[in-house]
Amino acid sequence: MKAEIIAIGSELTDGAKLDTNSQWLSQQLTDLGVTVHFHTTVADDLTENVDVLRIAVERADIILVTGGLGPTLDDLTRQAMADLVGAELTLHEASLAVIREMFASRGREMPQRNEVQAMFPQGSEPLPNPVGTAPGIWMEVPRGDGLFPACIAAMPGVPSEMRRMFEKQVKPRLPVSARVIRRARLNCFGLGESHTEQILGDLTARGNDPEVGITASEATITLRITARGDTEQECAVKIHSASEIARRLLGHYVFGTEDEELQHAVVQMLIESGKTLSTVESGTGGLLSHRLTDVDGFERCYVGGLILPTETSQQRELELTAEQYQQHGAISETIARELASQCRTRLGTDYAIAITSDRGGAALTDPAQPAAFVAIAMADDVLTQPVIRLGDSTMHRSRTVKTALNLLRLRLLNVEPSRS
Ligand code: ATP
Repeated sequence: MKAEIIAIGSELTDGAKLDTNSQWLSQQLTDLGVTVHFHTTVADDLTENVDVLRIAVERADIILVTGGLGPTLDDLTRQAMADLVGAELTLHEASLAVIREMFASRGREMPQRNEVQAMFPQGSEPLPNPVGTAPGIWMEVPRGDGLFPACIAAMPGVPSEMRRMFEKQVKPRLPVSARVIRRARLNCFGLGESHTEQILGDLTARGNDPEVGITASEATITLRITARGDTEQECAVKIHSASEIARRLLGHYVFGTEDEELQHAVVQMLIESGKTLSTVESGTGGLLSHRLTDVDGFERCYVGGLILPTETSQQRELELTAEQYQQHGAISETIARELASQCRTRLGTDYAIAITSDRGGAALTDPAQPAAFVAIAMADDVLTQPVIRLGDSTMHRSRTVKTALNLLRLRLLNVEPSRS
């Protein structure tokens, strides 16, 4: 079973809007075991819309269309579907009544123009839309001998309306098997993609069930486990066994599952051990503090932080003269160490994280030089770690913050950090 998704709208092709509907629909179809082979984005042009639909019917069994169902002249989806099969648009009285009622419930009279939203290609079926004015369209297009008809479901472009219509109206109509697909994610930090693959060995071999894929985002490595089975339970067992093997092989590199980030792991560990944390950061614009305060329950362990956006503010905080400060340089292990120790004392916490990072990297002449240092101060020691710059400044800041959180996480686990 092959699927194609067609996103219609000039605001998508001219770059004004990002097509997030296709991504969401692809995820839904993948969960149903349907492979999406094509994403097509097309402007509001009738001939081109018909062309795109014609091509889709030739190469896909399920075609999901979003956008272009509104009442304005540039909303051409219904006409394009009618032209595709050479059908007339006819008025569907029941849909018209619903649209009128929708306007009446908002205390407005229905503009004449909205009548077009109750017009459907002959032979198609309206898909009710209780949260908007545009009903969707379900149409089955006959194909050559021995082939099932291609199914086209046209849904509104408004994401919330589209999602509801897909769930309630389209999904039950799709000719998909009852086989269940379930997914899980394991998140790791401290290893590269290829190294992770090497450690996991056969677990990531193609064609396995469950499949284990590896993706990387700002130095976080995610194992994506996909299991297929006849029941949820069968999938859950497969996912559990693959996760256990991965956890055994990767050990402390695994820090969480699903949407969990390093800050979630750190906050949870601090709360469990009854310890407190403060932070001081330079060059990251408060990103570390921002991430920590995003975690539910952070108040129970995170006391507060300092943001030192300039060299002058760092120098003042450390009560150094300009000469003393220049001796170390802004991005230095000594400065990170000092900042962490002072912050810990000043805010009276068990741990303090310090970051001194180059903001944009423009000042760096030697790419092999660390572009940041992170430090963790605790009662009896200060740990530090350099961070080499990779990627643009957004990526660098994020990696630096993650490196700092991971250093504390490893400390809380009593694991010796490896140098990156
Ligand atoms: P309406 O009845 O609201 O006009 P419609 O089916 O005609 O519905 P569009 O006019 O194409 O939908 O789009 C409505 C809104 O939905 C747009 O403002 C656009 O921002 C958003 N939208 C449309 N297509 C997409 C898409 N593929 N991804 C994300 N948002 C989208």
